[in-house]
Amino acid sequence: MPSFRGGFSKVTSLCRDLEIPTGELMSNSSFNPYEMAQKQFDHAADLLDLDSGTRALLRIPSKEFHFSIPVRMDDGTVKVFQGFRIQHNDARGPCKGGIRFHPLETADTVRALSMWMTWKCAVVDIPLGGGKGGIICDPHHLSMLEQERLCRGYIRQLAKNVGPLEDVPAPDMMTNGQHMLWMLDEFETIRGQKLPGFITGKPVGSGGSLGRTEATGYGVVYTLREALIEKGIDIKSTKAAVQGFGNVAKYAVDLYTKLGGKVICVACWDNQDKKSYSFRRMSGVDRVELEKITDKFGTIDKEKAKAIGYEILPGDAWLEQDVDILIPAATENQINADTVGKIRPSVKIIAEGANGPTTPEADEVIKQKGIFVIPDFLANAGGVTCSYFEQVQCNMNFFWEKDEVLEKLDKKMTSAFHAVSNLARERGLYMREAAYIIAVDRVAKAAKARGWV
Ligand code: GLU
Repeated sequence: MPSFRGGFSKVTSLCRDLEIPTGELMSNSSFNPYEMAQKQFDHAADLLDLDSGTRALLRIPSKEFHFSIPVRMDDGTVKVFQGFRIQHNDARGPCKGGIRFHPLETADTVRALSMWMTWKCAVVDIPLGGGKGGIICDPHHLSMLEQERLCRGYIRQLAKNVGPLEDVPAPDMMTNGQHMLWMLDEFETIRGQKLPGFITGKPVGSGGSLGRTEATGYGVVYTLREALIEKGIDIKSTKAAVQGFGNVAKYAVDLYTKLGGKVICVACWDNQDKKSYSFRRMSGVDRVELEKITDKFGTIDKEKAKAIGYEILPGDAWLEQDVDILIPAATENQINADTVGKIRPSVKIIAEGANGPTTPEADEVIKQKGIFVIPDFLANAGGVTCSYFEQVQCNMNFFWEKDEVLEKLDKKMTSAFHAVSNLARERGLYMREAAYIIAVDRVAKAAKARGWV
């Protein structure tokens, strides 16, 4: 049975207000995200009738860095961590994408995520390519000083191959603004210059953008809002179930609720029990209230949740609710051949907040059922779009008000959504196919224009 970790913890031991989203667990060893990403790409390439050179270029990353990072631990010993940075494509601009901390990180996962970043930046039409990084580690078992040394060590190994005009990292699973700031500081120290555009997701006040924290979750809901308008459904009459209670899920719940929708169920990883649970309250989930009973590892206190009216159900229960909308906002491979059958006939829209939550097998079933999918690299593009705004603000050295950031984000997400849904309607395509056609075509044209293919 698939399980995941979702959550957002506050570790206050050595560094105040350091927030760590607590990643996920890849439960199905036969699942390979890179194979999935390539399968999706091959299908898009067929639809676009891409030539063999362009296919060969775009179906694999252009550069990969695999390296070891020796870190002096607090007890004086040295531990060697494994790091990756994978640059998929930079035809449209510098590579862009997060750095994940994960105990089960694999090169193939990072490869897949780097590919999805290329399509993500292209579908919202920002001048960036795709990349991703990862370190095999569990930050829950590292002190703040050890994490700082790990971040600095990662950059020391990569400094020659990344930069504001080459490859721009950002936070991702289990990394946050503090990690980004340590990485930036190390990079600037090596280069001997202030280069705030090197990294995004920095804390506000240290070159970060207002609205960056909310951006991914809000972006999911901007696209969902447009889908509901298109379908003539009043958001106030809808109910949703959400998988995850990390940064993406929380802010998706936040905005969807503000717009009048009702979330009846969220699923969350329990760090003590090492499994996930669904928290259901038919009268509606209250994000702020649930956050108050969530510990520093992102685990919601089940007893306290029960006391305020939540039923505690198995981890997969979020998927089998009688709701209009499903928002998987945790990790890859959650809606798969084993779980897709649980989706109820009431579900009209799936808005994918996570990267790669639906496998190609499950996707076929969803397509047959006629459920409207807002595919991952479109739905969750709000984070990187806001990262791009952060770079723009850093370059100008002038920072916008939060309303201005969110207004620009809304515009970008809304127009990207309509470009995809118009194409899907005109050509009778599934939304994922339409999103891939737009994104891959933009990247292929940029590569061709440069004379690469
Ligand atoms: N990690 C986020 C993503 O998967 C944001 C990446 C970025 O801001 O560069 O989209």
